Order: sequence, then C-alpha cells, then structure tokens
Amino acid sequence: MTADDIPPGTIASMAFWLLARTDRIRQHPGAAHIAASITTAVTRALRAIDRPPDLVFLGTCDSCQAGIYAAHGARWVTCRCGVTCNTETRREQLLAAAHDILGTTSEISRALTSLGRPLTPSVIRGLAFRGRITARGANERGHPLYRVGDVLEVISRDTRPPRCLLDITSLSANTHT
Ligand SMILES: [Zn+2]
Repeated sequence: MTADDIPPGTIASMAFWLLARTDRIRQHPGAAHIAASITTAVTRALRAIDRPPDLVFLGTCDSCQAGIYAAHGARWVTCRCGVTCNTETRREQLLAAAHDILGTTSEISRALTSLGRPLTPSVIRGLAFRGRITARGANERGHPLYRVGDVLEVISRDTRPPRCLLDITSLSANTHT
C-alpha cells in the first residue's frame, strides 16, 4: 500500500476513497468480509444518529391520567386515549401550577426551558446574586432552593418594554392623530 492509497481521516474522504475503488473491492478475495464490515458500520452509524426526537413532558392527561409527551415545536399532541390538546395551553397550565414549587437553579432551568421559557442556571444564579430572588430553603446537599414563581415574575418583568418606551410610543401616537 502506498501513501496515496490511504485516505485523509474524514468521513467524506474515506467514503470517496471507497467509492472510487468499488471495482477493486468487488474483485478482492475478502470482498464479502469488506462488504459486511461496511454494512455493519453504516447500520451502527444510522442507529446512533437516527434517534426519535426528544419529547417534552406536558403533565398528565385530564381524562386517563397518562403522561403526555409532545415533540419539540408541536402545536398539538394526542394522548394515547385519543384526547387532543394544545401544547401551548398545557405549558401555560404547568407553568401556573409550578409557581410554588422550589428547585435548584439547574432544576428550575431544565423545567422552564422544557416549558418554553429557556433560561440557563447561571442566569438564575445571577438573579440571586443581585438580590432579585431569594432562596427559600436548601436541599439535602446544601444547594439553595428558589421558588419557580419568583423566577418567572422577575423574568416577565425584564421582558416587558421599559416604561419610558411606552410613554414615547403613546406621545408619537398622539402627534399623529
Ligand atoms: Zn389520555
């Protein structure tokens, strides 16, 4: 084997290398073994990448109490009992029900992100550091626990347009009328 027989180490270059040598491989004494190895590798690769999309838990069904899971971005989800519900409505219901739940920054981050309010643990830690939310207790490992409702209130306050901007908007609306 010469140096130019060896393909550079990228998937595309190795695939191209194999593709350019299919006739030689077909006539090779170990052709059956080579074909089986490639087929196994392709099957393994497909199994690794072709996974079902992560599902979001949206609480339990009002009719049959089974857990409802929706694909990311889905607007509607149908429970196994046949009941269909709007994913946004379910998210709002879960958010409302979660207000008094206590959690660590990581737990709150995960829960809110899956409910459509993406928030990193460091953002929540920053809110606590600046005194905008206060720990309501600590877990068994000593990590501070925050109230989900406190985090949601601060975040919704921050995403509202500032008051001065509202005043300017109403002023310019008045001059045009
Ligand atoms: Zn159901």
